[in-house]
Amino acid sequence: MSHSSEAIGASTRSLHADDALNLVTDVAPPMHVSTTFRYSKDPTQLVPAADATPSDFDPTSHIYSRMSAPNPTRFEAILSSLLHGQVISYSSGLSALHGALTLLNPRRISVGDGYHGCHGVIALFTRLTGLQKLPLDCPPDQLEKGDVILLETPVNPQGTAFDIASYAAKAHARGAYLIVDSTFAPPGLQEPFQFGADIVMHSGTKYFGGHSDMLCGVLATNRDDWAAQLKSDRLFIGTVMGSMEGWLGVRSLRTLEIRVQRQSENAARLISWLDAALHAPNPTPDSDEAAVQAVLGEVLHASLQKVEGDWLKKQMPNGFGPVFSIVMKEMRFARELPSKLHFFQHATSLGGC
Ligand SMILES: *Cc1c(COP(=O)(O)O)cnc(C)c1O
Repeated sequence: MSHSSEAIGASTRSLHADDALNLVTDVAPPMHVSTTFRYSKDPTQLVPAADATPSDFDPTSHIYSRMSAPNPTRFEAILSSLLHGQVISYSSGLSALHGALTLLNPRRISVGDGYHGCHGVIALFTRLTGLQKLPLDCPPDQLEKGDVILLETPVNPQGTAFDIASYAAKAHARGAYLIVDSTFAPPGLQEPFQFGADIVMHSGTKYFGGHSDMLCGVLATNRDDWAAQLKSDRLFIGTVMGSMEGWLGVRSLRTLEIRVQRQSENAARLISWLDAALHAPNPTPDSDEAAVQAVLGEVLHASLQKVEGDWLKKQMPNGFGPVFSIVMKEMRFARELPSKLHFFQHATSLGGC
């Protein structure tokens, strides 16, 4: 049985899906920092680059680190097993999105609010190619063959979810593609390919890294031709993740399941406490409930979302994302609250331990 086999559970695969790439007896993966790798000493083994087929690219042998390197390759092997697609890693989440848009080169992109940086990448394409931005809820007939719907779910920063299957159907009916930015629901919480995603994207800086010490991005696809083109594009754009980040990333993925599941459970408890306090009838004046009701307007999260049908439970059967939002009654409360918290860091980003 292969160590990346589906018969093995996800947390075990996060420990062993890269075993085939472990060429040394070290138990902990060694850190390889070389940018360049020696060719074979046997002249009969040398293959002109132009004649090499993809099968000649053995994941245990490397040429130059802009193409591939040992630590990022192990990181990709583990994630390919967890995401159920071929994974290509990037220097950041935004360079992953840039890679996806370079591959598909759509004329139109339908996109909601979501992460502001993704709109920066879209603006760059608008400048270069005239890419036109459409709202997420645009009428289907505004989309044409080759266009893209970019669906971020759960969405940053609210933590509320969108129905992946319905956006996949909308895209595919027009010959368009669905990219799901699943950063807020890593594997274990959401499997976008099951619901029709064509490309799954993650900012690996968040839960995959999980220690606030590395930037990276990830694309996953089930199309061999797309995976090959993405790798070739990445070779020339140069947006590979660094070898150090690849090493840190493998360290991080070993505990992905346990971190994500615990963060999801903790968030669920906090949210249900806050929501119950917010809606407690007639709280006594000095109670926690009264304090919450004095300052809090609304709690936003997929667990509190009212949806039609059962898509949300099907899409996120093991718990919701750890990120939620609160809306304060006054601007000054929102300004002051973060500095008064003891255990939360007042800083951007998420998913760190
Ligand atoms: C952070 C984030 C990105 C961008 O990722 P970087 O790794 O910071 O480049 C993209 N999408 C979402 C939803 C994010 O939260």
